[in-house]
Amino acid sequence: MSRDKVTTEVPRGIPAGHRNWVARTDVVLADPRLVEASERLGRPLVKSAVRAAQQQARAGEIPTGAVVDAAVAALPLTAGGLRSVINATGVLLHTNLGRASLSAAARSAVVCACGPTDVELDLDSGKRGRRGRTVLAALREKVPAAGAAHVVNNGAAALVLAATALAAGKEIIVSRGEMVEIGDGFRLPDLLVSTGARLREVGTTNRTTLDDYAKAVGPRTGFVLKVHPSNFRITGFTRATGVEELVGLGVPVVADIGSGLLAPEPMLPEEPDAESWLRAGASMVTASGDKLLGGPQCGLVLGQEDLVLRMARHPLARALRVDKLTLAALEATLRGPRTPTYTALHCDITSLIERAERLSAGLRDAGIDAQAVDSEATVGGGSAPGVVLDSAAVSLPAHYADRLRAVSPAVVGRLDGGRCLLDLRAVPAESDTALAGAVHAAAGR
Ligand SMILES: *Cc1c(COP(=O)(O)O)cnc(C)c1O
Repeated sequence: MSRDKVTTEVPRGIPAGHRNWVARTDVVLADPRLVEASERLGRPLVKSAVRAAQQQARAGEIPTGAVVDAAVAALPLTAGGLRSVINATGVLLHTNLGRASLSAAARSAVVCACGPTDVELDLDSGKRGRRGRTVLAALREKVPAAGAAHVVNNGAAALVLAATALAAGKEIIVSRGEMVEIGDGFRLPDLLVSTGARLREVGTTNRTTLDDYAKAVGPRTGFVLKVHPSNFRITGFTRATGVEELVGLGVPVVADIGSGLLAPEPMLPEEPDAESWLRAGASMVTASGDKLLGGPQCGLVLGQEDLVLRMARHPLARALRVDKLTLAALEATLRGPRTPTYTALHCDITSLIERAERLSAGLRDAGIDAQAVDSEATVGGGSAPGVVLDSAAVSLPAHYADRLRAVSPAVVGRLDGGRCLLDLRAVPAESDTALAGAVHAAAGR
């Protein structure tokens, strides 16, 4: 039967002898709600939701008249495979949850950039304009010590580009105490060597002196690399050589600060920032955009104009360039209001406790075993190891952990002492209603 002959009426009666008689797919798909969903999400996604609902009806799990309702309820919110999650883990920058959450300003900048934009066009003159010129200007305003700026796909790409453009066929001198694995088996030394640069390791795991570096510097040196050991800490009999000492070696000093702080953050005194390290004499600083900067995934390159331009003009730069959505989100992060990451880091503990108490009381009213408890949050995302942030959480029975991941929006909490804790530090206050709704939905499952 062709599609335009399909009746929109879904039979409601169950013919005798066919207890689990289920309407045909094309008949179900003609329901106005599913026609609308097909336009919004595409027919294949809607069809698979319908198939799953029909299956449930045939198995007697739902009434046969409820196929459309079940299919509508099971539709994804978007055609993109990613589901939105409330981060109640207490880890501010959770790598598995996509690190930093974009500000409302950055989100609307992304939406605006979705269509045709002036990303490479100067609308005043009608001529070609430099890609990302306004975001590069914003970076330089935020980091006055940088002579130039460039943006690539992520922090790792910034290092690859630095190694390729400034040290291919040469040596990168790096301390043995700074040979870092970023996470998921990704090791910076492997990444650097993959570019064709050679690594010249100096010093020991716990101690590297200026003299260790000085002995290694020579005509083959591309640059000295200083890596902030962002996700671990070596304590005890240690000695690291600071950027200000390395400057005297007479070769470029490239510093990977990791977290993307552009200026000092008093809450995190151990975290390096771009402005301070450039002022201390680093030739160039590289960092991630989606850690403490609170922006989209990208890699920032800031520093001496000649070196940054050598990188920006290298053929590899084209392969590492970011799209217009990233440029839009980054600029809005730099120029816009405080980011969710900043707010989560700075929010005061009394407000967190109040929220935990209010949420728990509301849930208890609905018969749910919820209590407000003290909690401890961390920065995460490979930043600020060892830093503990006072926090507050809603404590639920442990079996909520699985159920909360199945509702929409999904909620990811943390299991602790046989309870499921929903830590509120990384949850924006405006998400409390959605969080409570998710717990109610999970309770009903
Ligand atoms: C996170 C990090 C990186 C990697 O940055 P990505 O943006 O994840 O590619 C590199 N170096 C340091 C010191 C880091 O902390």
